[in-house]
Amino acid sequence: MPHIIAEPCIGVKDASCVEVCPVDCIHPTKGESDHAEATQLYIDPDTCIDCGLCVDECPVQAIFPKDDLPAEWSKYIQINADHFKKK
Ligand code: SF4
Repeated sequence: MPHIIAEPCIGVKDASCVEVCPVDCIHPTKGESDHAEATQLYIDPDTCIDCGLCVDECPVQAIFPKDDLPAEWSKYIQINADHFKKK
């Protein structure tokens, strides 16, 4: 049950979450080539260990445990996973 980055991240991409993630599963980071074109950041569901450290770092409250994700943003479960399938 990974954490999910939802709609508030779009256009923000603050990336404070990237700094605290102990398993480096939030991408694209500012150093990656696809950071500029990405609409938001994404969490790799296969790597996330559900520690929750990223949640409080987000300035726009865009990150949720999968079970607490607001229903209107449920499509972001697939959107986060799809980002890593493309690679
Ligand atoms: Fe990384 Fe923990 Fe956030 Fe998962 S819950 S993305 S492991 S900081």
